[in-house]
Amino acid sequence: MNTFYHSTRSAADSVTSKQAILAGIAPDGGLYVSDELGEKPVSLEAVCNRGFRETATDVLGTLLPDYTADELAGCVDAAYGAQWDSEAICPVTPLGTDWLLELYHGPTCAFKDVALQMLPQLMRVARVGDGRKIMVVTATSGDTGKAALDGFAGVEGTGVTVFYPHGKVSDIQRLQMVTQLGGNVAVCAVRGTFDDCQDEVKRIFSDRELAARLAEKGVVLSSANSINVGRLAPQVTYYFDSYAQLVRRGAVRMGEEVTFCVPTGNFGDVLAGYYAKRLGLPVRRLIVASNANNVLTDFLTTGTYDRRRDFHKTISPSMDILVSSNLERLLYFASEGDCELVSSLMADLAEKGVYTVPERAMDKIRGLFACGCADDGDTRETILNTWRELDVLIDPHTAVAKHVLDAFPADGTERVCLSTASPYKFSSDVLSALGEAVDGMNGFACMDTLEHRTGTTAPAQLSGLRAERVLHDDVCDRERMGGFVESACARVFL
Ligand SMILES: *Cc1c(COP(=O)(O)O)cnc(C)c1O
Repeated sequence: MNTFYHSTRSAADSVTSKQAILAGIAPDGGLYVSDELGEKPVSLEAVCNRGFRETATDVLGTLLPDYTADELAGCVDAAYGAQWDSEAICPVTPLGTDWLLELYHGPTCAFKDVALQMLPQLMRVARVGDGRKIMVVTATSGDTGKAALDGFAGVEGTGVTVFYPHGKVSDIQRLQMVTQLGGNVAVCAVRGTFDDCQDEVKRIFSDRELAARLAEKGVVLSSANSINVGRLAPQVTYYFDSYAQLVRRGAVRMGEEVTFCVPTGNFGDVLAGYYAKRLGLPVRRLIVASNANNVLTDFLTTGTYDRRRDFHKTISPSMDILVSSNLERLLYFASEGDCELVSSLMADLAEKGVYTVPERAMDKIRGLFACGCADDGDTRETILNTWRELDVLIDPHTAVAKHVLDAFPADGTERVCLSTASPYKFSSDVLSALGEAVDGMNGFACMDTLEHRTGTTAPAQLSGLRAERVLHDDVCDRERMGGFVESACARVFL
C-alpha cells in the first residue's frame, strides 16, 4: 500500500491518500502532509502542451499516488465538464500589464468550485472497498455551502447537508442553496448566527451516540473542509495550467519564473501555489493578500501569529478569517518536518491564541512569500480604478489582491493575480464601488443595474436563479440540527 500521508503533528502513522481524503483531518488534529512532496515533479514541457484536464490528471496523479490513472481520468471528466462556462476551465486574461487568472467559471461562480467539483469524485472512488456511505455536513456563511451542494449533488454513495444562518446570507446566496436539485442534498436555515451553525456542526461531529446510530446504518459523517487534501490537490492544477497558458501566449518562456498574488483567507489557495513550486513550477514569489483581517500580513512581517484581535466584517467576506488553518502545512515544510515544533505552535495557538515561529523557518518562508493588505476603502477604490482604467470588472476579493499586487514594484517577472469570484456574486458592493446608489435594491436589481452600467453580462448560473423553484424551506433552531442531519441520512440513504 502506498502510504504517502501522515499528520503534521506526528509521523508515526501513515495513510494512503484515499484514507486521508475520507478522514479529512488526522486523528491527532493535524493536517495530512507527505514527505515525498516534489520527489516526483510534474513535467513542465508536458503541461505546456496540454489542456486543463490532462494537467489535472498529471498533478493529481503526483499528489494522490494510490489513485489509478483511470480513476483520476474519470474524476477529472466528471469534475471539469460542461458545468463550466469556459472551455479553458480557468482562463488567463490580461489585466493591464499583469494577468488575471479567472477561477470563477464553475457552477457557483466562485473559486471553491475548482476543488469542490473534484472532492466528491475523489471521495466516491475512495469509498469503493470501504463501502460506507458518506454524509458531508457543512455550516456556511454563504459561498462554501452552495459549492459543496453542487459538487456532491447526485454523487453515488454520498449525501450533503448544509446549514446557513437564517436571514444572514445574501438573497442570491440563499437562492443558490434553496433551489439546489438532487436526491442526496439537504439544506436548512438555522435561527442564529454563522458561529452558532459552525459550533453546532462541530458538536454533531463529536456526538458519539449519533455516530453509533449512523454506523449501524453504514453511514459516516464527513466534512468538506478546506484542509482536506482532496480540496488542496485540485487547486495545484490551475497554477500549472495558467503558466502553460502564458507560455502558449508567448508571454513567458518555458522555465522563466512568474509571480502569483492570491486573495487569502484559510491559506488553502496560496498553499496550493507553494505545492506547485515544490512540484517544479518556476515561481518567483507568492504574494499573500489579506483584507482588514490582516493576521497573515502581521505574521509574515513579524514571525508572530496573533489571533487575539478584533474581527472585521468586510466586503470580501470569504477572507474574513482569523485562523488560517492551512498555514499549519507550511509550518511543517518550513521547519523541515519538525512535528514537535508544529504541535507546540498549534498548542500555543489553541491555549494562548498566539505563537512565534523560529527565525530559521521564517527566513525560508520569507524567501518565497511576500504579503500585503487592503481595507474596504482600498478595495472599493481598486474596483473603480480597474474598471475605469483597464475595462476589467473585478469582485471585492480579487480587488484586495490587485491592490496588494499594485503596491509591489515590477520585478521583471510576469505577474498573475488570482480572481476568486465573479463580480456578479457581489453585485451590490461592486455597484456601490462604481458610485451607484444601491439602497433598497435586491440582488437581482443590483445584477441588472450592473449589467446596464458596465455592458457586461451576468453569468447564467446567477441570473437564471430568478426562474428556479425553491425546494428547501426548512428552518430550525440550533438544538434541532442534529436531528435534521439524522433524518437527512435516513431519507438520502434509504
Ligand atoms: C474561499 C475564498 C477565498 C480564500 O481562499 P483560501 O483558500 O481560504 O485562502 C478568497 N476568495 C473567495 C471568493 C473565496 O471564496
